[in-house]
Amino acid sequence: MSFLNRVLRARALSSTETLLFVSRAFSSSSCVNSGTDLQLGASFPTKPPSSLTKISKDRNVQWVFLGCPGVGKGTYASRLSNMLGVPHIATGDLVRDELASSGPLASQLAEIVNHGKLVSDEIIINLLSKRLEAGEAKGESGFILDGFPRTIRQAEILEGVTDIDLVVNLKLQEEALVAKCLGRRICSECGGNYNVACIDIKGENGSPRMYMAPLLPPAHCESKLITRPDDTEEVVKERLRIYNEMTRPVEEFYRSRGKLLEFNLPGGIPESWPKLLQALNLEDHDDKQSAAA
Ligand code: AMP
Repeated sequence: MSFLNRVLRARALSSTETLLFVSRAFSSSSCVNSGTDLQLGASFPTKPPSSLTKISKDRNVQWVFLGCPGVGKGTYASRLSNMLGVPHIATGDLVRDELASSGPLASQLAEIVNHGKLVSDEIIINLLSKRLEAGEAKGESGFILDGFPRTIRQAEILEGVTDIDLVVNLKLQEEALVAKCLGRRICSECGGNYNVACIDIKGENGSPRMYMAPLLPPAHCESKLITRPDDTEEVVKERLRIYNEMTRPVEEFYRSRGKLLEFNLPGGIPESWPKLLQALNLEDHDDKQSAAA
């Protein structure tokens, strides 16, 4: 049974053990995550994840990208998804699509997202299930999830319905994260992601200098650039606070299962992409040239 069907079944059948998981997880009816009731699993030493990153011939990869807002999850997840031929599914994009649709949830979601809060687990699972259903109808298999799971409950629900092979935890210092969010621009027509910030942070206490060149839009996108409403300094700081409170424990959840690959970004895409491929044992992957284009 596909991942999607198991998710949907878990939501639909009251007799399954999985549903107990889901219903416990959904005990709050609010739209917004409360941030309480987090529980960590026992902590074990992280196993080297190299064996997990070998691409299986039996099925497509099921990976998760974790990391603070602005770290570049979308950039690297989308490049890898092109390279490996699996869908890149960003729950933030699903939320923004729902907002743009002006459907019944849109006004509640806008209030939550524009203040940097997390949407409730129930709404996110519903949006993700719909997206997977559409993908399944098109014959998709495997995935790279970006921005999900973001709470321990979401991680438990995901674990209850499928095996995640690998969780990549992208890391950057906070100064760079804030600058990257404030510099982010999106083309309102083609959806292209750009960044007008030039980040140059002096290395201190033995840490190397961090330089990231701006990623400027092509001329035809220049006049159509927009800024995300949640990329203001105040909201970015709130998103970082919420990440530390609600999502940081998810890192430990996967670390304790030996699935977490920690990756400190050494700079912008030209410096980071080859090193990420190396860390994922993908340096020799046939299609890496086209993915980097
Ligand atoms: P992102 O583009 O990943 O920064 O997500 C934008 C916003 O969508 C977040 O600040 C949350 O309000 C919401 N969101 C995205 N993914 C999730 C998730 N897994 N759980 C709860 N809220 C989410």
